[in-house]
Amino acid sequence: MMSTLTDPRIDYRTLIARAIRILNSRGVMHKSGHVSARDAGDPNTMWINSRKASRSTLTAADVVPVDLRNGERIGEGDEPPSEFHIHRAIFNRRPEVGAIVHSHPEHIVALSIARRPLLPVTVDGAFLGARTPLYDDAGHVDTPELGDAVADALGGANAVVLRGHGVVVIAGNVEHVVTRIILAEENARMQYLAEALGEVHPLGADELDRIAAHTASPKSIRKAWHYEEETARRRGDLDGC
Ligand SMILES: [Zn+2]
Repeated sequence: MMSTLTDPRIDYRTLIARAIRILNSRGVMHKSGHVSARDAGDPNTMWINSRKASRSTLTAADVVPVDLRNGERIGEGDEPPSEFHIHRAIFNRRPEVGAIVHSHPEHIVALSIARRPLLPVTVDGAFLGARTPLYDDAGHVDTPELGDAVADALGGANAVVLRGHGVVVIAGNVEHVVTRIILAEENARMQYLAEALGEVHPLGADELDRIAAHTASPKSIRKAWHYEEETARRRGDLDGC
């Protein structure tokens, strides 16, 4: 088991490569999603998977550093993904954020196409809060200005849905953000099923904070990451990573 939750000597390249592989194994990454982490030793640097590397086979060598101040790739080599502006804008605006995922999970996107708000309908979806904000522009987020617009829409929330496109989820560390996006998509799938049956009853205000605090504990995050990592490993989806 690889756990960096309490290890200050984090190997960001390996951690992000594993995060991408796990999310791809789970069906929530697809061909062009990305995971980033802020370097705890140098808060002006973020690590992110490269634009070109296949999300099904990428390794630590495919994770690149970017300077958060000017948006430049640090050193020579592959470029970051075209939508890295999402990550840069959020890291620059929210100092407590240590990791970000952007991808295109199908149930979250389907709800946005139907203009249904993503609601916290399950215990594991409590971290989403009463209503996940919507970024109401279906285009690619490939300029600094558009990155700022997504960060504006996110505000102080833990996730923002991009209409007809995908979702952005934030957390304090990579392990947490990986489990959060998986749970956000599972929550969306449950909402979709429940809406097909009838009236939906999301978690109440009195339930949200209490349940979210429990699922955000280091013990819960470690357990969830361990489950995801071992499941992907048994499928062979971490081979060579
Ligand atoms: Zn995208």
